[in-house]
Amino acid sequence: MDQKIVWLFHTLHKKFYGGFSQSIRRSLASFDFLTMSYPNGLVSQGKQPLFSFGVITDVQYADIPDGRSFLGVPRYYRNSILVLRKLTTFVKILIVDTQIPLLVSLSVSVRLIMGYPNGLVPQGKQPLFSFGVITDVQYADIPDGHSVHGVPRYYRNSILVLQKAVQNWNNHQNISFSLNLGDIVDGFCPKDQSLEAVTKVVKEFDKFNGRVYHMIGNHCLYNLPRSKLLPLMTFPNVERAYYDFSPIPEYRFIVLDGYDISAIGWPHDHPHTIDAVNLLNEKNPNLEKNSPNGLVDLERRFLKFNGGVGKEQLEWLDKTLQDATKYNQKVVVCCHIPLDPGATSKEALLWNYDEVMDVIHRYDCVKVCLAGHDHTGGHSVDSCGVHHWVLEAALECPPGTDAFGYIDVYEDRLSLIGTDRMASSEMVFNQ
Ligand SMILES: [Zn+2]
Repeated sequence: MDQKIVWLFHTLHKKFYGGFSQSIRRSLASFDFLTMSYPNGLVSQGKQPLFSFGVITDVQYADIPDGRSFLGVPRYYRNSILVLRKLTTFVKILIVDTQIPLLVSLSVSVRLIMGYPNGLVPQGKQPLFSFGVITDVQYADIPDGHSVHGVPRYYRNSILVLQKAVQNWNNHQNISFSLNLGDIVDGFCPKDQSLEAVTKVVKEFDKFNGRVYHMIGNHCLYNLPRSKLLPLMTFPNVERAYYDFSPIPEYRFIVLDGYDISAIGWPHDHPHTIDAVNLLNEKNPNLEKNSPNGLVDLERRFLKFNGGVGKEQLEWLDKTLQDATKYNQKVVVCCHIPLDPGATSKEALLWNYDEVMDVIHRYDCVKVCLAGHDHTGGHSVDSCGVHHWVLEAALECPPGTDAFGYIDVYEDRLSLIGTDRMASSEMVFNQ
């Protein structure tokens, strides 16, 4: 894997280095420096930087027409302030977080830069609309703990992160709606407090001055059965947890239910529980079905805390994509469980991600897939150019830090503006 990072970097480096503006060449030089410090790849595993800082120079803004230096080099006086705005995010990506998904972010940003020869953003373009994002709040009124891998979890702090997110979206004043990617209350929440905890978190979401579109996650289902959860979380249809909506005629959002076929949430004798239990018994020989012991490669996804999309939902997805194609809409697919192995650990992948992606790839309309569930986040672009973006969890934010954001939507890209632990990025696609 490390070799792959180095290879990717060198390819990028060789291909694009010469064509960059001076400021970007300097940013790439930061990459050189990082690579050389850690011969195995870009970062030493698990090491956090002592601190990070952004760099930029020679903005030389002026509200005057473009000109040239005395050597004839073009100067874009009005654009430079836009570069400053974008570059603060860009440099943060380069220096603060240097995992593979963010190297991919670099290549996406690079494409964006190359698309706009005058600088990093087209002048004066406003987003078509914007929406808020947060995932894996996993609130519980219990002391801090750890994941099975030893990652700290801040159960009481996570609701404060949500409060800050809602405040941020309200202050922005131009956020059309917000997406909760699932898992609002943790499975460790004492069961006699489940109803109270879910209600408390939903009330926080309700303080947002706009519509919140929810998804259910495994942790929600550990606390309450679907029959109680769906009406409480104001799903558009209490009969099912998948739906679609169009914030503007040019875009459609499809929310999938990744726990449609699941061993959690349905009554024990429900056909979807039976299908899930049979699948787990067939694919996972462990007595404890949340253990991937002995499972190889992508088979490691057959764990009880994941789930699948049922036949009826797949047919609905196909019909909805047909409809979106007919109306020339671009589609964003959202699901608590990630849909692409490149964007997530194998243990956090949807059971039948391949069947879902087969349907999606039959059409050209899906541009981006958003997910939660894998708390560290991740990013990939699949073989058909669809972006897969897994958002970082609110639960793992130490007190005083955040993980939420909003996404500006344009004709040709989604631009994620994350706070703190949620990485910012551009998802540029073919129109
Ligand atoms: Zn989850």
